[in-house]
Amino acid sequence: MTAHEYIEEAEQSLIHTYNRYQIVLEKGEGVYLYDVDGKKYLDFAAGIAVFALGYGNKEYNDALKAQIDKLLHTSNLYYNVPAIEAARHIIENSGMDRVFFTNSGTEAIEGAIKLARKYAYLKDGTTDHEIIAMNHSFHGRSMGALSVTGNVKYQEAFKPLIGGIEFADFNDLESVKAKVTDKTCAVIMEPVQGEGGLYPAKKEFLEGVRNLCDEKGILLIFDEVQCGMGRTGSMFAWQRYGVKPDIITMAKALGCGVPVGAFAAKEAVAAALVPGDHGTTYGGNPFACAAVNEVFRQFEQKHITQHVVEIGAYLNKTLSKFAETYEFVKEARGIGLMQGLELTIPAGDIILKALDAGLILIAAGQNVIRFVPPLVITEEHVDEMAAVLDGIFAGI
Ligand SMILES: *Cc1c(COP(=O)(O)O)cnc(C)c1O
Repeated sequence: MTAHEYIEEAEQSLIHTYNRYQIVLEKGEGVYLYDVDGKKYLDFAAGIAVFALGYGNKEYNDALKAQIDKLLHTSNLYYNVPAIEAARHIIENSGMDRVFFTNSGTEAIEGAIKLARKYAYLKDGTTDHEIIAMNHSFHGRSMGALSVTGNVKYQEAFKPLIGGIEFADFNDLESVKAKVTDKTCAVIMEPVQGEGGLYPAKKEFLEGVRNLCDEKGILLIFDEVQCGMGRTGSMFAWQRYGVKPDIITMAKALGCGVPVGAFAAKEAVAAALVPGDHGTTYGGNPFACAAVNEVFRQFEQKHITQHVVEIGAYLNKTLSKFAETYEFVKEARGIGLMQGLELTIPAGDIILKALDAGLILIAAGQNVIRFVPPLVITEEHVDEMAAVLDGIFAGI
């Protein structure tokens, strides 16, 4: 079948929830992807901040193959060794005390919301607690995660959503304070907003929210599904800021391609959930956790976070030059390998041109090009990307 025929069939068979780019990807090698026609692409999207260690990573593939031959699934009615080891890795790297494995970022958010509500319920016995979320946030598409996603466009047709959610402005402490009531049980935010347009939190804002939460006995939830796992140059973004949450969610690069997420919490908070409160059939299965374990092993072995600090600075410097050179490039911003280029023109047109030229980029909102490449990219890859983008910008 040709690429065109595959796309025709996909448009007949799949529910049309995505306007997909017109390419059919087939294989990957390092930081390059190939489509079914053999065309090569430099990948600066990593499957939306997932494939941190690059494609065709032999040790990763071998670890998965070995686990397939041993045991794929057990359910959570029994213990399994990969899950115990994966929890140990997460605890050591996140500063949290206990972990619950999920199959996605969205499910990690669901769990975090339930945990915050149960914790508050145990404290005062009432059931009308409120959660403060941020405008322009993104936490997922299920009813709970969608309810804390600050984007009216995503929410409108699916109301009624879950109750007790208030929205404040990111990086505006006063607006958070204004939403606090004696019913507030949690504040949830991404330390670096991803989908919403690539906005890093200001340190003072996170510190202010942390203090506010401590004062009022409110839990602080950091959604690190996108900005966690080394992307900002520390294992989790909270470490970069020095502001520790009570609950943290993770997914995307946690399994580097195998669907797995988690929420983790401090002991006193985690203790709120007891048998019967929450569950999942697949969550934390040996296959997914073998991926998690291999990811952490390679992060340590390859000093990934240190590499991200260095290459992230280089990427930011490279993108900043575009902001100086081209009038329609407003700003380069971000942390580590989570960078954005805000334009005054639609990002979508640029992304299509880049794709033609063999460069995979994605957007964050209407006007921001988002750069979330595999964490193993080198300066040469950044230069290669910049040369393609410069050629496109020069033609505008
Ligand atoms: C992608 C994302 C989610 C949702 O994760 P899924 O794995 O797609 O369910 C939640 N929060 C943030 C910050 C994300 O970037």
